[in-house]
Amino acid sequence: MKVLVCDPVSSKCIDILKAAGLEVTYQPKISAEELLQQIPEYDAVVVRSRTKITSSVIEAGKKLRVIGRAGVGLDNIDVEAAAKRGITVLNTPESSTEAVAELVLGLMLSLARKIPLGDRGLKEGRWLKGEMMGFELKGKTLGIVGLGRIGSRVGALAKAFGMKILVYDVIQLPEQLIKSLEAQVVDLDTLLSNSDFVTLHVPLTPETKHMMNRERFARMKKGAYLVNASRGEVVDEEALYSALKEGWLAGAALDVFEHEPPTSEAVKLPNVVCTPHIGAQTVEAQDAAGELLAEKVIKALGVR
Ligand code: NAD
Repeated sequence: MKVLVCDPVSSKCIDILKAAGLEVTYQPKISAEELLQQIPEYDAVVVRSRTKITSSVIEAGKKLRVIGRAGVGLDNIDVEAAAKRGITVLNTPESSTEAVAELVLGLMLSLARKIPLGDRGLKEGRWLKGEMMGFELKGKTLGIVGLGRIGSRVGALAKAFGMKILVYDVIQLPEQLIKSLEAQVVDLDTLLSNSDFVTLHVPLTPETKHMMNRERFARMKKGAYLVNASRGEVVDEEALYSALKEGWLAGAALDVFEHEPPTSEAVKLPNVVCTPHIGAQTVEAQDAAGELLAEKVIKALGVR
């Protein structure tokens, strides 16, 4: 059976596919036209986020049985068209948990200690020590919205920093998990009004789109911080900008945006720390995504 790998994936992915006896073609820069021409020969296609698996590609892929996405989002795959043809769509949401959780802690530390300001100042020849009084995470309250894979790992890391943890989720959370985090399960309003940091770890759904809006920001504690490394649309960026401009929030850290690259003015504020959607961007997470995906593709093709 033949697998077409369209985006730069970890070499481990390709090695595992080959070791299972699959014929692998690696074309990390394949164009949309080339993909349409070549897809009829393949039983499976593997992508990251660059290549778009549109309904036309799916239609042209007469032999196609599996579409694999190394990573989380399936925005570049026409999942509905795949379902109609009975094609299995696979991804590896579990591969980036540690990477995102560590980034969240990094963002919180950046806000608390104004690390980007100090760095910028020194590069511009300024010694901003006097403007850089920070605070410690220890003893502060972290509100985690969505205690799934990433939310729970953030909780474990925050606990190690001595933070108090509040959690809100729509599902019944395992007692053992709550106990291990020494967390308190509360409703969203209670979480917002009692947290020094609020970190979002929900999926993007109709319910979570603009979950953080004007009213919700108003419910947050004055002087609190927001961290978003989930999906950009979970936050109404205009409302966030107002909450920051009015001084209600002390700061925010964003890895994801409503539009990427971002168009929001919030990005330019001095008390906002931003990263360009790098949550899963670690060597370990990319390797894990490649390895896990290769195993899932092999299983779905029934090779092993
Ligand atoms: P997960 O499915 O393991 O956890 C999500 C949790 O959110 C679940 O416990 C679910 O019950 C809860 N939830 C769903 N709707 C909710 C609501 N309305 N209110 C409260 N809780 C709700 O997902 P995960 O792997 O932890 O990923 C979390 C988020 O991180 C996703 O949005 C994902 O796309 C994003 N992500 C971002 C990056 C990045 O590069 N920044 C990388 C990976 C994942």
